[in-house]
Amino acid sequence: MDCIFCKIIAGDIPSTKVYEDGKVFAFRDINPQAPVHVLVVPKEHIPSADFITAENSGNISAVFEAVPKIAAAEGLTNGYRVINNCGEDGCQSVKHIHFHLLGGKKLSEKMD
Ligand code: AMP
Ligand code: ZN
Repeated sequence: MDCIFCKIIAGDIPSTKVYEDGKVFAFRDINPQAPVHVLVVPKEHIPSADFITAENSGNISAVFEAVPKIAAAEGLTNGYRVINNCGEDGCQSVKHIHFHLLGGKKLSEKMD
């Protein structure tokens, strides 16, 4: 499959890995928007939030179980933000669902 994040998970494209378990892979965003900017992705290829179902949602809960572990490892003791962009209006550029974990500074109150 021609998916850049599947290739990163497979190790075919290099990344700076910060976390991995059976269902989840996390690595540093190549274009960080905050002092800490990690992408947390399920290993299973799910194109976007629009494709979450009862059958595959265990991959998403695994992502959110990993988030506090990654946040602690990154020293985000004062909070952080988790963002998912979905589809055209959400400005999703990579069509493998991913969650941006942002922190390390006081983030903007603006959401859009
Ligand atoms: P989104 O716009 O929500 O689809 O986010 C895609 C994110 O993937 C962007 O923040 C990019 O900077 C990031 N990105 C794209 N290619 C890579 C890569 N090879 N390694 C790390 N991050 C990447
Ligand atoms: Zn993929």
